[in-house]
Amino acid sequence: MGAKVAKFGGSSLAATDQFQKVRAIIEADPDRRYVVPSAPGKRDDNDQKITDLLYLCRSTAAQGVSIDEVFSRIATRYLDIAAQLGLSIDLQPHLDTVRAAIEAGASDDYTASRGEYLNGLIMADLLGVEFIDAADVVRFDDRGRFDADRTQSIISRRLAQSDRAVIPGFYGSMPNGDIKTFSRGGSDVTGAIVARGAAADVYENWTDVSGLLMTDPRIIDNPRSIETLTYGELRELAYMGASVLHDEAVFPVREAGIPVNIRNTNQPEHPGTMIVADAGPATGATPLTGIAGRKDFTVIAIEKALMNAELGFGRRVLDVLEQHHVSFEHMPSSIDTLSVVIADAQLNDKLDTLVDQIHADCKPDSVHVHPNMALIATVGRGLASHPGMAARLFTALGDANVNVRMIDQGSSEQNIIVGVEADEFENAIRAIYHAFVNAND
Ligand code: ASP
Repeated sequence: MGAKVAKFGGSSLAATDQFQKVRAIIEADPDRRYVVPSAPGKRDDNDQKITDLLYLCRSTAAQGVSIDEVFSRIATRYLDIAAQLGLSIDLQPHLDTVRAAIEAGASDDYTASRGEYLNGLIMADLLGVEFIDAADVVRFDDRGRFDADRTQSIISRRLAQSDRAVIPGFYGSMPNGDIKTFSRGGSDVTGAIVARGAAADVYENWTDVSGLLMTDPRIIDNPRSIETLTYGELRELAYMGASVLHDEAVFPVREAGIPVNIRNTNQPEHPGTMIVADAGPATGATPLTGIAGRKDFTVIAIEKALMNAELGFGRRVLDVLEQHHVSFEHMPSSIDTLSVVIADAQLNDKLDTLVDQIHADCKPDSVHVHPNMALIATVGRGLASHPGMAARLFTALGDANVNVRMIDQGSSEQNIIVGVEADEFENAIRAIYHAFVNAND
């Protein structure tokens, strides 16, 4: 028997009909033995996530105000789901315990974690499988940092005793027994931890989109979906703004060589996107995997004759940044020029000070500042192996009249990053997409 871990996000568990879809998905494949639920998400745009309501309960209680109204909204959602699914579990005592704990001053983490806990109880009853409390198997240290080794040893032993189980996402416990959550969206991390603990064949991450799209659908109508990509490519696209999985969800499965399959609960027949360690050369119609980008960068371009021969020049520039606690994103350079690309959120109001100090410490010939920059990463395994890729990209940008301010090609050769003016961002992405994706393919 194989083992698959299926994690379901909040939108997949927002209401009764979604739970029914989830049950059908689990029953369709006997290998789907371990299920990791999030808390119920929004049913529509005007709705609220259960996790947000729980945080609200907690802050309401902390102000000494009654939580009656907010808590009854939470309780009603769970009780309705359980009743409509015809479950045998009596949720009321569990709800009473949670409510009493919040009123008695329970922590933020405990309160928020109950969204997943209660949903886990429902899911286990619905599927007729064992419920394993994440507090018993997911461990944090006494400073609240996730303890990967200890968790792996506990959870792998525990799962070996259970053929099928539901393990709620998002939380675990500290050595003193206190509940601790991951950061928001952390059920993704739990799913990856369970997949590693079960030595699963695949970690299925069920959400409401049919895998990753090649680019932002707000910029390109109906972009293609990505069939397969590597963890490295995912990291580059995610860093550049494509939101897929919680950042920390990748490590446990990547280390264990377990592929991640992003799937759509509302379209279970779609194969979704596979994220793997090594995808081999690109085989599809386009050598490109995806295009992602971010705005709000500033570039400080520094020029000095014979910079290449001057010992310690780069260090002195970086020293200035470090002294002012500013980290940089990229540092493209040529013979006599060096640019540092800095996210605006890092800069705050330090720009003038930085420029003054670079002048004083590095004695450059000139320093130019380019604000309002956007970075766009074109990512793909095919970029390195196909000749003429860079030419195609820059020709497309030139034809679209996009002025490229900066170019940075990673040494992995799986991405080319260009810096453009923020107001040319969308144009540039459209030009690159259409240069590589032929509408007729
Ligand atoms: N329910 C938590 C949140 O809303 C965790 C998750 O959904 O992954 O962030």
